Amino acid sequence: MSFKIGCHLSSAGGYLAMGQTAVSIGANVFQFFTRNPRGGAAKPIDPADVKAFLAFAEENGIGPILAHAPYTLNAAAAEPRIRDFAEMTMADDLKRLALTPGALYNFHPGSHVGQGAEKGIELISDLLVRVLKEAGDCTTTVLLETMAGKGSEVGRVFEEVKAIIDRTEAQRDNGLPLGVCLDTCHVWDGGYDIAGDLDGVLRQFDEVIGLSRLKAIHLNDSMNALSAHKDRHAPIGKGKIGLDALAAVINHPLLRDLPFYLETPCDLDGYRKEIELLKGLRK
Ligand code: FE
Ligand code: FE
Ligand code: ZN
Repeated sequence: MSFKIGCHLSSAGGYLAMGQTAVSIGANVFQFFTRNPRGGAAKPIDPADVKAFLAFAEENGIGPILAHAPYTLNAAAAEPRIRDFAEMTMADDLKRLALTPGALYNFHPGSHVGQGAEKGIELISDLLVRVLKEAGDCTTTVLLETMAGKGSEVGRVFEEVKAIIDRTEAQRDNGLPLGVCLDTCHVWDGGYDIAGDLDGVLRQFDEVIGLSRLKAIHLNDSMNALSAHKDRHAPIGKGKIGLDALAAVINHPLLRDLPFYLETPCDLDGYRKEIELLKGLRK
């Protein structure tokens, strides 16, 4: 299977512009924010732009595209108003994603803000059940992102991700599929040594969550040491995870067919160079 590699792109110019930008930097997948990550309403979608993009994506072998929910949402908030906002936003995002079949939709599970991880897991799952069921005829797969464990973030350990999935699945019998997006910087900062023992980390992922749930990789280096719980992304090969370890990630038999999305601190030309570098390391 071909190497699916791309990066986070600005959605300011619409879908076709993102597709064209992706191709111009050697990418065949990309990620984008569904709306301003700091909140606010999403721009109306232009059906002509979506149509042009879908044709362009087909021609150029682009996809799957990964829509990232605003990182300010908190499905585990203590205040109902904040949880309701997260639910409304996610439901609206999924309605919009119905226009781009087969997309992935990634969100940060949330922060329990002192209520405890168990309560956080309950709140996130219960919200997810409603969001997944209400999504109608959308063909999106919804992904929980593995987190670094900054503050009271839920989803640092695989067990928490699994608990959210289990509680969600137990409460529903229909709706959109649920998967996981593994962020290499986050799991590293969260304490999983993907540089020293990638096989061991994947074994743990498989035992706890199940590798069949893994649908996407955020490929980032980390500014910080293993278990730092910080979440600061570094350019590929310029951080503590290192180039050799990231090369092992893109080539690992259990991971190599997944789509890889860079979220490194880079401008477009930086992304072009990283993509070129990684293509050169692909076996
Ligand atoms: Fe994220
Ligand atoms: Fe990420
Ligand atoms: Zn991050």
